[in-house]
Amino acid sequence: MTMINGFTAEDAARLSETERALIERRARVLGPAYRLFYEHPLHLVKGEGVWLYDADGKRYLDAYNNVASIGHCHPKVVEALYEQAKVLNTHTRYLHEGILDYAEKLLATFPAELDQVMFTCTGSEANDLALRIARQYTGGTGLIVTQLAYHGVTDQIAAASPSLGAGVPVGDFVRTVRAPDAYRLGAENVAQIFADDVRAAIADLRRCGIKPAALLLDGIFASDGVLSDPAGFLQQAVAVAREEGLLYIADEVQSGFGRTGSHMWGYQRHGVQPDIVTMGKPMGNGQPIAGAVFRGEVLDAFGRTARYFNTFGGNPVSCAAANAVLDVIQGEGLMTNCAAVGEYFKAGLQGLAERYPLIGDVRGAGLFVGVELVTDRASKAPATEATARVVNGMRERGVLISSAGPAANILKIRPQLIFQREHADLFVQTLEAVLKSLN
Ligand code: PMP
Repeated sequence: MTMINGFTAEDAARLSETERALIERRARVLGPAYRLFYEHPLHLVKGEGVWLYDADGKRYLDAYNNVASIGHCHPKVVEALYEQAKVLNTHTRYLHEGILDYAEKLLATFPAELDQVMFTCTGSEANDLALRIARQYTGGTGLIVTQLAYHGVTDQIAAASPSLGAGVPVGDFVRTVRAPDAYRLGAENVAQIFADDVRAAIADLRRCGIKPAALLLDGIFASDGVLSDPAGFLQQAVAVAREEGLLYIADEVQSGFGRTGSHMWGYQRHGVQPDIVTMGKPMGNGQPIAGAVFRGEVLDAFGRTARYFNTFGGNPVSCAAANAVLDVIQGEGLMTNCAAVGEYFKAGLQGLAERYPLIGDVRGAGLFVGVELVTDRASKAPATEATARVVNGMRERGVLISSAGPAANILKIRPQLIFQREHADLFVQTLEAVLKSLN
């Protein structure tokens, strides 16, 4: 196949002059490590609520955005940014009410023992900091993650992100466990299998002379393929980690801030108590703010011996944006909306599953939904190629999603928390049109 800038000749032929020029400029100045979404990349120029607009004015329903989670360019966030940026933007080494107001409001969403927060700019930094602190507290170094986890880009955290693929080796201090996949392992077995795997991973670390420090889990197992049910399946594994002296770090970068429905945090669905919670993505609706929340006791030794300063992390402008985001989520009933529209949306997708055998499973919590595509329901053989065609077909018809999972055969769907039934209907109709077009 002839490739032009990584595109097949067929895909390249679809590009406009402007798109072609942008792709070439991009490759020239940004180098080869970046990837574009979709066979026909998008050139977006504007966002508003659930909609994105390309340079030709075509509108797309954004069902793949866990950053602008309360809607693109939300007026209250824009206003908060502007009002604070006009007055002052410094950092956490000066006294400032805005930072503390936000910290208190954020901590109020957690149980009393999770009572201190540190701010970063990215989820990767938050996980990196959580790992450093867990290591200091436990005196161990080992980390347990799921088989296809993604936790970020720093050296240590990339080494604990097996979804980055063979080019980014898993670190010696990391052990991976099978993701708690109820569709493949069975809903009745998944909690026990997961706990047994965690126990075995801890034993393996010890056998190799590595003291384990923490169990780090994404609250919705997004890159492992969106694994949500049965709610509660984390309890046994977390209990094993605790018994063995590990800390449990809940990575809420994907599942936090109301994403999974009636709870603010994804781990709450499972009835477990983390020692550290990391968060990011939707925290500032696009403004780079992230952080980690701790039990004070866990943070204590680190705080006494190490100095922490993150130039941009938790600056007054970022905190003003984040404060507005929490106000909107809580004040405008977005968790209730997310739970209700999420159920309606899943029911619509389940309706499609009755008519299209390609759909093997529909799962998810709130507005984080996974649709697993299989070539054969009995063997559950992954329909990897069809999944890529669906993702690209949806894009051509104006709906944005992506895929996940070990065989990239799970549609990964994350509409904004302001998604309404009419948007869910449009999504389901579009998916049906794409599924029909596959035959
Ligand atoms: N954890 C999870 C579960 C994520 O999905 C991501 C980002 N996709 C991160 C951490 C890293 O966040 P960031 O890109 O802000 O560094």
